[in-house]
Amino acid sequence: MRDKGESEQDVLEQLSVYRARDTSYDRVLSAMCTHPHPIAVRAHEMFMETNLGDAGLFRGAHELEHEAIAMLGGMLGDPGVSGYITTGGTESNIQAIRAARNSAISDDPNIVVSESAHFSFDKIADLLRVDVRKAELDEEFRVDPACVEAQIDDNTVALVGIAGTTEFGQIDPIRELSDMAVERRIFLHVDAAFGAFVIPFLDKPYDFDFRLPGVSSMTADPHKMGLCTIPAGGLLFRDPSHLQELRTHTPYLTIDTQYSLSGTRSGGVTAAAYAVMRHMGLEGYRNTVKYCMKMTGRLVDRVREFGVEPLIDPVMNVVVLDVGDTAKVRTKMAQKGWYTSITRSPLALRLVIMPHLSEKRLEEFLDDLELVCREL
Ligand code: PLP
Repeated sequence: MRDKGESEQDVLEQLSVYRARDTSYDRVLSAMCTHPHPIAVRAHEMFMETNLGDAGLFRGAHELEHEAIAMLGGMLGDPGVSGYITTGGTESNIQAIRAARNSAISDDPNIVVSESAHFSFDKIADLLRVDVRKAELDEEFRVDPACVEAQIDDNTVALVGIAGTTEFGQIDPIRELSDMAVERRIFLHVDAAFGAFVIPFLDKPYDFDFRLPGVSSMTADPHKMGLCTIPAGGLLFRDPSHLQELRTHTPYLTIDTQYSLSGTRSGGVTAAAYAVMRHMGLEGYRNTVKYCMKMTGRLVDRVREFGVEPLIDPVMNVVVLDVGDTAKVRTKMAQKGWYTSITRSPLALRLVIMPHLSEKRLEEFLDDLELVCREL
């Protein structure tokens, strides 16, 4: 740091230079985040300095958090859930499994997740010292319930189902997992980090949330399809005693308890999550999902015209394409300024169709993809 500070204008100019090096979402088909809704930005600014780590000082922000959690729960089948606004899917998953582990009695705990689980579960294995067992997928890339069942033993403290898998946008058979969880009396966590703001608004209904009796907790991220500012995740528990498993005594604050992983945490994102959900309403999200699914359908129709097939018919706004030489296609598309992604097994081209993608950009993307695929 310099001894004498620089003028505000100079610093802002420097920032603009750095900002210009960032990628605009415009040509990004690899991310699960998007432009935040303007009302989320306004709300975030209003509550920027509030600290929910010391909620007694910021009662307004604290009340907003309760409201935001109740709205998330209401969308997912139980407005009476307990929880808090996290920094994203990773924190929610860590904390859900931590609660499950703490509420169970085992010296050697394990959890059973699907092979398609997000890499946050690898962090969980390391951080929480639980054995993360991975169950195989069926031919549609959903976890196979028989494989989950085969991995369960007396030390299994949680099952995890994914509602909206990161790579395929697929929904695990959560009803079957819920039945298993009820029968075996095991905690069931549903990771709907991406799917929470998509699945309720699809034409086809899916069982995936607290309406199923076995679902104990859910991850639901406002900063993905919820159009909130980053970092905003949602962690929801059906049974308040599970939240209590995360309790830490805070001796010198205005409150005597924290449940969050982080200590100091801005109420900005909480206000943003509240504001955007109030403003959008279910109807707003329904329209957003309708748009993304229309674009997804258009993409699939068009690639089929030039001989490229998706690995599965998209369930949500994630498309995985068999383009042959995936690495080459991805490189060539990157040279044309497009950001795409991959699936690991099998290796294929992964595209996420977020609200920031305009119809015009999609057509340009498809023209370039057709050229690249035909040149192979
Ligand atoms: N879970 C799922 C299903 C995800 O798709 C992601 C991220 O894409 C996460 C968890 C992790 O979320 P975050 O990056 O917000 O921590």
